[in-house]
Amino acid sequence: MAVIGSGIIGLATARELRRRFPRAAIAVLEKEPRIAAHQTGHNSGVIHSGVYYTPGSLKARLCREGSASMVAFCREQGVPVQVCGKLIVATEPAELPRLQALLERGLANGLQVRRLGTGEVREREPHVRVLAAIDVPSTGIVDFRQVCEALRKLMEADGVELRLGAEVRGLARADGDHLLRTSAGEVRAGYLVNCAGLHSDRLARAAGADPGARIVPFRGEYYELVPSRRDLVNGLVYPVPDPAFPFLGVHLTRMIDGSVHLGPNAVPAGRREGYHKGALSARDLAATATWPGFWRLARRYWRTGSREIWRSLSKRAFVAEARRLLPDLSPGDLEPAGAGVRAQALARDGKLVDDFLIVEAERATHVCNAPSPAATASLEIARHVVGRIPDLGQI
Ligand SMILES: Cc1cc2nc3c(=O)[nH]c(=O)nc-3n(C[C@H](O)[C@H](O)[C@H](O)COP(=O)(O)OP(=O)(O)OC[C@H]3O[C@@H](n4cnc5c(N)ncnc54)[C@H](O)[C@@H]3O)c2cc1C
Repeated sequence: MAVIGSGIIGLATARELRRRFPRAAIAVLEKEPRIAAHQTGHNSGVIHSGVYYTPGSLKARLCREGSASMVAFCREQGVPVQVCGKLIVATEPAELPRLQALLERGLANGLQVRRLGTGEVREREPHVRVLAAIDVPSTGIVDFRQVCEALRKLMEADGVELRLGAEVRGLARADGDHLLRTSAGEVRAGYLVNCAGLHSDRLARAAGADPGARIVPFRGEYYELVPSRRDLVNGLVYPVPDPAFPFLGVHLTRMIDGSVHLGPNAVPAGRREGYHKGALSARDLAATATWPGFWRLARRYWRTGSREIWRSLSKRAFVAEARRLLPDLSPGDLEPAGAGVRAQALARDGKLVDDFLIVEAERATHVCNAPSPAATASLEIARHVVGRIPDLGQI
C-alpha cells in the first residue's frame, strides 16, 4: 500500500493503515527531504474546536472529534500542548449579529461556547479592543511538526517505510495494482492513498479520478510581535470572520513556543509552494488561469482580494487592519514571520469547496481538499479514510 505525502494527513493515514492491515507492506512516499515540509510545517498551530463549520458537515464532526483526539495524542506522546481557549471578538456593531450566529453554531456543534462580558475580556486580554466576545474554551495550541515527529516514530516502529526524496511523477495501472513512477524508482501498490496537499488534484487526475475541483494556492503571511511587545497578547484572539469567505481573518496567536503571531492574510499565490511574493510557476499559474472557477471567484471577490493584496504589500495597511483588534500596535512592534500556502479546492462554478473533499476511486482514496482545520482533524480524517477502504483480502 502506498501513501503519497508525509504531511500530517499522510502520516496519520499510514498509522491507521497499519492498524487496520497489520501484515501489509506500507510505504509513505514524500518528495521533500523531510516530513511536514509544506502546509503542516507552515501554519498557526491552533487546535480548532469546530465552532465555525456547518453542523453535520465532515469538517464539523471530524474537527470536534479531532481536537479531542489530538490533545489526547499529544499528552500520550509527550508533545507539548496547551488547551488555552480562544476569544472571538466583535469590534464593530455590524459584527454583532454574526457573532451571535457563531455562538449559536458553536452550540449546535455541541461545543461549550459562551458570551463573555467586556470586563472578563479585559481581564484576559487588557490590550484588545472589544465590543462583544465569545469564549471557546476547548481551543488549544501545539506545534504540528512535533505531532508529525511523534507519528513518524510510531509508524516506523510499526514497520511502515518512509521514503523521503521520492516524488511521484506518474501513475499507471497493472493487473489492478497502481504503478507509481517516482524520482527514486518504481513502486507497486495494491491500494493508494493520495495525501499530496497542494498537488493532490493533479495526482488524483493522473490516477484517473475526477476531483471536480482544482487546487488554488492561497498564501497566508504572518508577522510576529518583537519579544519586548509580546505582553500585548496573552492567548488567542480572532475577529468575527466574513461568512462568505472560508479564511478566518488576521488573528492574534500566542504560539506554543511563546512567540505571538499576527496573520495569516489570504493572497492568491503564483506558485503552489510559493512562500515569497515573487515566487511564480508558469505551470501553476496556467492551471489556475485555465480553471473557469477561478475567474468566477475573481469576479465575486475582487474587492476583498485587492484589499488582501494591498495589506500584503504594505506593512502599514496590515498594521491598520490588526489595530482593529489591538489599537496599541505600531509598525515597529512587528517583524515578518514567514508564510504558509493553503491548498484550497475551487469548484468549476467558482465556489471555494467548503467541506473536506475525499474522493474514493478503484483501490484508491484521494484527499482533495484538506484545508484548515485539517491539521486539527488529521487523526480523525485518517480514521475516516481508512475505515471506508473495503476489505482487500491479502494485501
Ligand atoms: C497559513 C496556514 C495556517 C493554517 N492554520 C491551521 C491551524 O491553525 N490549525 C489547523 O488545524 N490547520 C491549519 N492549517 C491547515 C493545515 O496546515 C492543513 O490542513 C494540513 O497541514 C494539511 O495537511 P496535508 O498532509 O494534507 O498537507 P501537507 O502538509 O501540505 O502535506 C502534503 C505533502 O505531500 C507531499 N507531496 C506533494 N506532491 C507530492 C508528490 N508528487 N510526490 C510525493 N510527495 C508529494 C508534499 O511535499 C507534502 O509534504 C493552516 C494552513 C495554512 C497554510
